[in-house]
Amino acid sequence: MVALENAQNRVLAETVAGKLDIPHWDNSAMDGYAIRATDLQDQPVELEIIETIPAGVVPQKTVGVGQAARIFTGAMLPAGADTVVMQENTETVGDRLKILENPAPQQFVRSQGDYYRAGEPLLQAGLVLKAADLAVLAACQCTEFAVYRRPKVAIFSTGDELRSPDQTLQPGQIVDSNRYALTAFAIAQNAIPQSLGIVPDDPVQLKHTMAQAIAQADIVMSTGGVSVGEYDFVEKLLEELGGEILMRKVAIRPGKPLTVAKFPGNKLYFGIPGNPVSALVSCWRFIQPALKKLAGQTRNIDPHFVWAIAQQPIKGAGTREAYLWGNLSMTDQGYQFILAGGGHSSANLINLAQTNALAVVPQGVQAIEAGDRLRVMTITN
Ligand code: AMP
Ligand code: MG
Repeated sequence: MVALENAQNRVLAETVAGKLDIPHWDNSAMDGYAIRATDLQDQPVELEIIETIPAGVVPQKTVGVGQAARIFTGAMLPAGADTVVMQENTETVGDRLKILENPAPQQFVRSQGDYYRAGEPLLQAGLVLKAADLAVLAACQCTEFAVYRRPKVAIFSTGDELRSPDQTLQPGQIVDSNRYALTAFAIAQNAIPQSLGIVPDDPVQLKHTMAQAIAQADIVMSTGGVSVGEYDFVEKLLEELGGEILMRKVAIRPGKPLTVAKFPGNKLYFGIPGNPVSALVSCWRFIQPALKKLAGQTRNIDPHFVWAIAQQPIKGAGTREAYLWGNLSMTDQGYQFILAGGGHSSANLINLAQTNALAVVPQGVQAIEAGDRLRVMTITN
């Protein structure tokens, strides 16, 4: 159970209903005068103003034949009245109201229950609570409700060459940037990241950390060690630990050596490739939907693709589907995609920064020409 105040981005675990109609009572949509539509027949219309009704005040009088009540936006409609004439279409002298332009009958009245009837399903289980949803829950006085537990994601990097950003690098060493990328990614998915640091390419230490990660988290994301080299132990260790290997490779570039294994208790292990771009492409393309599903989300799970016009030629990757990073923007002709400048190597994380989309070149397509339409996947974190 969470309180409304703490519910942002949580996934609703029950279908919620409100106890109040919305609007709660008939009220005015305008600053003006509450009148009876039947009084509009004689021309010119002149009425007696019998009361002033600000928002939040209960009307004291019934509007009778030839009468009107001064009313403000959101104020309760008085008994007898059924229509509001906006202030701009009136003139007053003392308590006399002259209507210059007749409203249609029932105009500017927001009727009780027009938007929502008490007791009807309001928001469904499985949706992520955003600003508008929270406003709706607040308006319906749903102050506490059930949400799903946020998934715990264990994150670690493997590789003898890796050091933390604050360490001095010796020749041959590189900074572990993946851990920061993956942690930010996990947080953006509303998961709870648990960092297990850097693990060397030593099967004993690696197996120990993998076992610990599987025990403590719902999802494990490790980078590196999933390729075919002598120091790539992850796949073999997953088997030793009793994991059911669901996949060992994906026909995409970058991101081919993605290993996915399942462990008892519905736990998933993602052995993510070490190259920084491959790592994030794997996250956006495959792990994001998995995380959403495991978090209880039932809608908007698949990646979001749009059609866009390529602004320059974009090369395919032969038998693999190619993902090329760049920027998607709107023009008068629709979406356009501009490839990031610089090399599109899976190790080039520099030109990945500040991109917002991945162009997709299908398997077997040599190249998309400038001016041609292609599918583009938006990056949403
Ligand atoms: P691997 O899959 O372990 O062979 O790693 C492939 C490439 O990614 C190597 O060039 C690594 O140095 C690089 N790499 C691996 N892990 C990381 C990491 N955590 N941060 C940045 N680069 C990495
Ligand atoms: Mg490695």
